[in-house]
Amino acid sequence: MYYKCLDCGHVFTEEETTPKSEYLTKLDNIPVYETRYACPACGGDYEEAHECEGCHDHFGEDELYDGKWCLNCLRDALDYDSFFEYATSNQSPFGYVDGIAEFVYGRIFNIDYHSLPSAGSYEFQRHMHEIYLREVAKDKLLFASDHTPGHRLLDDIKSWVLDDGTESDREDFAEWLTQRKER
Ligand SMILES: [Zn+2]
Ligand SMILES: [Zn+2]
Repeated sequence: MYYKCLDCGHVFTEEETTPKSEYLTKLDNIPVYETRYACPACGGDYEEAHECEGCHDHFGEDELYDGKWCLNCLRDALDYDSFFEYATSNQSPFGYVDGIAEFVYGRIFNIDYHSLPSAGSYEFQRHMHEIYLREVAKDKLLFASDHTPGHRLLDDIKSWVLDDGTESDREDFAEWLTQRKER
């Protein structure tokens, strides 16, 4: 069992916790102390820590999505292909058009998807997929090296899924990732 400090983030085992004596009250004028266990690094309170399935680091419960993945691992798992797979799956939270169409409108054309024509047709979606794949090819060409400065479509993809929505959008992607791993 691992624990994580709520104050400093230090991760430690049960054996490493340090006893700390704390003044509780006075009984018949005799001070009463209570022993409590604390973070060995800073003396702070701690919570149970859970291992991330991706990087195997330890995190507090509310730092893991689907109880399994830390935010960094979600970010790492998103690439051009996995986003396409996720956004066109029926688990994606993107509404009546598939997620690629919504992404192409929202991020590439900068048009609010609520103003989308009600074009859920196969041709429309295929056209959106073609635009997406073309933009991906451009991005791969432009940013062949990780150190190329500038604005990447890949960064847009990551923030579209993980940063622009709510916590539940992160959960959706984490659940999809878990299921993909189990397949
Ligand atoms: Zn600490
Ligand atoms: Zn991780």
